Amino acid sequence: MPNPLLELGTGGHAIGKNPLAMGVDALAAAGHARQGLAKVMRKKCLDCCGFQAAEVRKCVATDCPLWPYRMGVSPFLSADAKARGAGPGEVGDA
Ligand code: SF4
Repeated sequence: MPNPLLELGTGGHAIGKNPLAMGVDALAAAGHARQGLAKVMRKKCLDCCGFQAAEVRKCVATDCPLWPYRMGVSPFLSADAKARGAGPGEVGDA
């Protein structure tokens, strides 16, 4: 069965489709359901560290763009929520 996320490029080689042109239903059908971006970044960090959560927590690659988000929540949104007086569970992660 062909991969629904790929298409043929100009050279006849498989390339990734443009997700912006696919539509959310096609993405979901192919296994990419809507997720908050901080959760997505957390998953990438787990992949980076061999799925060892303790290693993600201790990551020393502070110049990595994902570093502030590696715990699965945006610290920036958390700070904004705290400033608004939001309680636990009211902090977004998008
Ligand atoms: S922040 Fe650390 S664990 Fe996450 S992707 Fe970057 S290097 Fe890997």
